[in-house]
Amino acid sequence: MIYAPMREKIKPDVCCSADGNGSFSVTAEREFVPDELIIMISGIMRRTPTRTSIQLGVAEHIEDPIIGSMNHSCNSGAYIHVMNHCLRAAHIIRRGEEITINYNASETSLACPFRCRCGTADCVGLVRGYRFLSPEQKRTLKHLAPHLCSEK
Ligand SMILES: [Zn+2]
Repeated sequence: MIYAPMREKIKPDVCCSADGNGSFSVTAEREFVPDELIIMISGIMRRTPTRTSIQLGVAEHIEDPIIGSMNHSCNSGAYIHVMNHCLRAAHIIRRGEEITINYNASETSLACPFRCRCGTADCVGLVRGYRFLSPEQKRTLKHLAPHLCSEK
C-alpha cells in the first residue's frame, strides 16, 4: 500500500548521499527556517518497523527512501509532523548542513538500537525508542508523535 500522494516536487531540496561503508546521509540544498516544510512523507506502509522505517501510528510504519536515509540526532534539525505527513525544520538548517531527525520522537521501539554519538548536550546515549527513555528524557522531548503519547 502506497501511503500519501506523490511528492509535491519532482526534485526535493535535499540531497541523499552514501559513504563507502553503505551509510547514508541527507543534506539540505537550501536554507530552511523553523517549522518550514522540508519534504512530504511518501512510501510503502508496513505493520512492523525496520531499520529505516518511520513510525506514523501504533502499527503503521512507512518506508520513505529519503527520510529513511536520515541520521539520528538527539537535538535534530528536523522533525516528523505525523498529522501533516511531512518533515519540517526544527530550527534553521543551513545549505549544505546534514538534516537529522530524533528517532526517539517517532519510534516506540527501534528495530535496530544503536549507540548515539551526536555529541549534543541532550544526547541519550543508547537509542532504543521512546519507550526506553527516562521520565525526564520523555518530558523534555520536542515534537513528540501523537502515537507515543499513550506510552507511559
Ligand atoms: Zn545523541
